[in-house]
Amino acid sequence: MTQYKYVLEENGMPTYWYNILADMKKPPPFYLHPATLEVMDDPPMPPPVFPMELIKQEFSKERFIEIPDEVQDVLKMWRPAPLYRAARWEKALDTPARIYYKWEGVSPPGSHKPNTAIAQAYYAKEEKLEGFATETGAGQWGSALCFAANLFGLKCKVFMVTISYHQKPYRRVMMETWGGSVVPSPSSETNAGRAILEKDPETTGSLGIAISEALEYAMTHEGFKYSLGSVVNFVLLHQTVIGLEAKKQMEMAGDYPDIVIGCAGGGSNAAGLIFPFMQDKLNGSQPNLRAIFVESTACPSMTRGTYAYDWGDTAKTGPVAKMHTVGHGFIPAPVHAGGLRYHGMAPSICALLDQGQAEARAYHQNIILQAAESFARAEGFIVAPETAHAIQAAYDEAMACKESGESKVILFNASGHGLLDLAAYDAFHRQDLPDYELEQEKIEQALVELPQIPNG
Ligand SMILES: *Cc1c(COP(=O)(O)O)cnc(C)c1O
Repeated sequence: MTQYKYVLEENGMPTYWYNILADMKKPPPFYLHPATLEVMDDPPMPPPVFPMELIKQEFSKERFIEIPDEVQDVLKMWRPAPLYRAARWEKALDTPARIYYKWEGVSPPGSHKPNTAIAQAYYAKEEKLEGFATETGAGQWGSALCFAANLFGLKCKVFMVTISYHQKPYRRVMMETWGGSVVPSPSSETNAGRAILEKDPETTGSLGIAISEALEYAMTHEGFKYSLGSVVNFVLLHQTVIGLEAKKQMEMAGDYPDIVIGCAGGGSNAAGLIFPFMQDKLNGSQPNLRAIFVESTACPSMTRGTYAYDWGDTAKTGPVAKMHTVGHGFIPAPVHAGGLRYHGMAPSICALLDQGQAEARAYHQNIILQAAESFARAEGFIVAPETAHAIQAAYDEAMACKESGESKVILFNASGHGLLDLAAYDAFHRQDLPDYELEQEKIEQALVELPQIPNG
């Protein structure tokens, strides 16, 4: 069988990022101030917790933004990332569809996340900062940022959700190996952490609490800024190297996708692949392109949430954004796809969904692991449980082709490898993996606390 692997030359890496805000007829509305709920239509956002250049990118309407040489130099360690035709999986599924995947598992931390971590570390260094504070759940984002910060001589302080800190030590070890400093959250190092610990010393922590601690740490430590790994415009912008490369590689393959798919927690890897193709849909050259964002049924912001203004974090420290949300107080079930447990979604993706330019769907964890296993047996790669959601969507579309006899072209993003998530596969094999059926009541409860915006 032919090896269908499409590899660009090293100098085939994009030299600019693609900013979809330039092409959206109705871009997402501006953020609101977390306390006053007033429109923040002027950078810098108060408080300026991010490096200035990133705040500029957040509000930019430029279609293409140059990738600094130093950022390109680091990305070249593993980019351009390969694109594969899943020919063996197509055969196993007996589908007439042509399935392609972009493989982001080749980065040192093992996911797409360093694509933005590197850029953020570069701008922080340019601003002569000392370091970053951030939060992490299972450790994918924390490990990507520690890797990047170290390369630019910056410190990295990571607040890691307590339960993961103790139950998932391997990514903590990666962070420490790259020179990061990791504490379980809630910690006794911040007011936010101490307040929670006083009330509940046995708490397992949450991403919302960890965000509050990281923000407080950044604001109270000279030379430190906060770093975020998904959701906001500049992170999605940095991830477009995925789709820009994939467009060239699809051209090498002589194909163009009918359907593009990505799994979505905050939306960054999916947008990274999909937005450069979405440009063709928005400008009318590919009107029939279908874009599918896939989430977990445990945290169904796009499929069951409300499109409304909500805070980005539990403590209401960060800005308010209009997005599909299940509420900033929502605590999702402990599914293995930890990266898909954010209560909201990137505002630009939400605007595209609202305008009928994209679709969303949600899956349970047993079915996605079954799909990931079938993929691993044909293609070899054992993907992250988050990625498995995209694989399930590709599977469903491939099966629809089998039924209709159409040979559509399906492209999905393989956001990361699952070699540190084998416990999920193990539980699946032992048939010890619960599917969480979320009660509508819980979602409604969390939505009661949305901010009251006049005409919102
Ligand atoms: C973090 C993560 C995700 C989810 O984050 P997005 O911002 O939605 O991309 C998906 N896949 C992997 C492998 C991750 O580490």
